[in-house]
Amino acid sequence: MTKNTKGESVTLVGTPCHIIAAEKMDHYPEILGDSPVEFKLGLFCMENFSHSYLKEFLKQENIEIDDVNQFRVEKGHLWAHLKDGDVFKVPLSKAKVCMRKNCQVCMDYTSELADLSVGSVGSAPGWSTVIARTEKGLKTLNKAESKGYIETKPMEQSGIVLLENLANKKKKENKEEIKKRESVARPVLYRRYINDTEFREEVSSCQFNDLKADVVDVGSCVLCGACYYVCPENIISIEDRKPQLKGTCPPDCNLCYVACPRTYLSQEVLHRDLDQKPLGDYLKIVSARADGVDGQDGGVATAILNFILDENTTDEVIVVDKMDDNPWKPEAILTSQVEDVKKAAGTKYSAAPVFKVLKNEDSKKEVS
Ligand code: SF4
Ligand code: SF4
Ligand code: SF4
Repeated sequence: MTKNTKGESVTLVGTPCHIIAAEKMDHYPEILGDSPVEFKLGLFCMENFSHSYLKEFLKQENIEIDDVNQFRVEKGHLWAHLKDGDVFKVPLSKAKVCMRKNCQVCMDYTSELADLSVGSVGSAPGWSTVIARTEKGLKTLNKAESKGYIETKPMEQSGIVLLENLANKKKKENKEEIKKRESVARPVLYRRYINDTEFREEVSSCQFNDLKADVVDVGSCVLCGACYYVCPENIISIEDRKPQLKGTCPPDCNLCYVACPRTYLSQEVLHRDLDQKPLGDYLKIVSARADGVDGQDGGVATAILNFILDENTTDEVIVVDKMDDNPWKPEAILTSQVEDVKKAAGTKYSAAPVFKVLKNEDSKKEVS
């Protein structure tokens, strides 16, 4: 695989499905080459919206998306805080028409395969919940605290219970949807039980057309951009809502099918035991806050990223910002600049193909 990152190491900030893609790419270096993602900072995510559907939905309520200052998903509602101070709220059951179909088969609320997971749920206002899952994640959490980037305190038991309940709700509801889809021959491949040996056999002759049939056309694509990134022929485009093929695949290539987080996931990548654990496996869970940093998560994700860049834990980070010329349209950027990280703080609630920036040198910010 050709890597266009000049060998730089990267921290990925992403939704649980992005983190699964990074984990999968890390698991098959002999097929995909070495992954540049060295550190995975996962976010909590209940669902995501299609930017164009959301824009249209708001328009029907006489709201221009440009007039929205902040979106939040809380207490069963989508909240749009408008720039003029008004607040528009709509039950999630109604906003569901804007939800991406892939989110309805997603079983991970807290980024169970991340090094560190961060989200606002479970902690008091102004604080975030941080879950350290790996030794690398725990070390980063402890060092970020000892160097004054964040402060932490033990989680209240009631906060953990709330978080577990929400995670269990997502797993339960979406398991039903998965069953429903499987029963009408609309496969949800990533939920099939398979081991690494079987995985290699299954995917050996699968190419983009199979990816399209098994993932994109059945509403499973999470729009992560992993297929675009690994394609050695550069014949996948991912400009709009789904990846498309723009050329002819050589006979022996299957890289996009291997890398996609919504084709088969072997037990070695994602063990199904995690279905029984609402928050997945972890080493430590705390409440944390970061003084002087804005952001929906209490600024904690931003502060940890600042620490990662200051300490050179990785050379660059991938964060999702909003496009300047298309309000609330998310855009992934690869940067080593703390200011870019601060500017990108806050949840966007729409999907962005985060892996795309690893290949696109033009989208990289200048490093001074
Ligand atoms: S598939 Fe949807 S709900 Fe699941 S992590 Fe991705 S964006 Fe969030
Ligand atoms: S060449 Fe074809 S099969 Fe290979 S990664 Fe690109 S699109 Fe997929
Ligand atoms: S088809 Fe491509 S963009 Fe969609 S989930 Fe798979 S790898 Fe990601």
